[in-house]
Amino acid sequence: MTKRIFLIGHPVGHSVSPAFQQAALDHYALDVRYEAMDVDVSSLSSVVSGLRASDVMGANVTVPHKQAVMAFIDELDEEARLIGAVNTIENREGTLVGHNTDAKGFLKALKEESGFDPKGNNVLVFGAGGAARAVVVALVGAEAKSLVVANRTLERAASLVESLQFTLTLAETIELKSDSLGSVAAGSQLIVNCTSIGMSGGEGQGETPLMSDMIPSGALVCDLVYNPRETPLMREAAKAEAQVLSGLPMLVYQGAAAFELWTGKEAPVKVMFETAEKALTAR
Ligand code: NAP
Repeated sequence: MTKRIFLIGHPVGHSVSPAFQQAALDHYALDVRYEAMDVDVSSLSSVVSGLRASDVMGANVTVPHKQAVMAFIDELDEEARLIGAVNTIENREGTLVGHNTDAKGFLKALKEESGFDPKGNNVLVFGAGGAARAVVVALVGAEAKSLVVANRTLERAASLVESLQFTLTLAETIELKSDSLGSVAAGSQLIVNCTSIGMSGGEGQGETPLMSDMIPSGALVCDLVYNPRETPLMREAAKAEAQVLSGLPMLVYQGAAAFELWTGKEAPVKVMFETAEKALTAR
């Protein structure tokens, strides 16, 4: 019997996950189809319920359902609970277990692509949405020394830090265009953009949260945005002669972690990278 794995989101047509997850499944010649499913919020409950079927191995969950889906599953792992969002569902014989592989994917990308260990380092994070929550949880777990969360909506940054307060030792929040941004950036070894600023087709298309004159040359600048491949922030970071990391490795590594949860097999990361790159270029 052909098994199935779904991507649940709205919209889902733009996603490159179907391409690289199917390539990984095909690499092992598994009789599994990975299918994108555009799901309206009103049908989320019944669609998730359907994941308990014996031919379904699980699902990925993307915008805008990562939080809402938590109400319809049976168990949550520790990381998903801390982050407050689920991006991967595993069907364990009718029991739906929620995971969040974004934090793991982010740390793996830092390590494998840039050789960076957050331990003991000062970090500036832009954004306070779902991706920022995963990145902050990852950084706290990896023992970063301090965190500053900069966001357009200050209250959202404050509530992110507040909800994770028991695990944070040194965390501050500032507005995106705060006067103190320059001094915070100057003291940061890692700068991460977790907003959608710079994303193709979004309201912040063509923009950057930081200009080159505020980026220290010794820092690693990571942009979670992966479309376009080279974002305005990445260009500014290169101008400042800082180290640069795109969002593509995190995308692939969070997908690789999900693949391993569903299949129990080592993810063929090289195949996944090649396919994701090709799918992005073909757009
Ligand atoms: P989200 O929950 O909707 O949060 C969006 C964030 O971006 C908020 O902090 C929001 O600020 C900020 N923002 C949006 N437009 C802005 C603008 N024009 N000016 C200033 N701030 C703006 O989205 P998300 O799920 O966290 O995703 C954020 C980005 O990360 C997306 O581009 C997504 O594609 C990317 N991402 C990448 C990966 C990866 O694997 N590479 C994984 C997850 C997400 P307010 O709070 O003020 O609205």
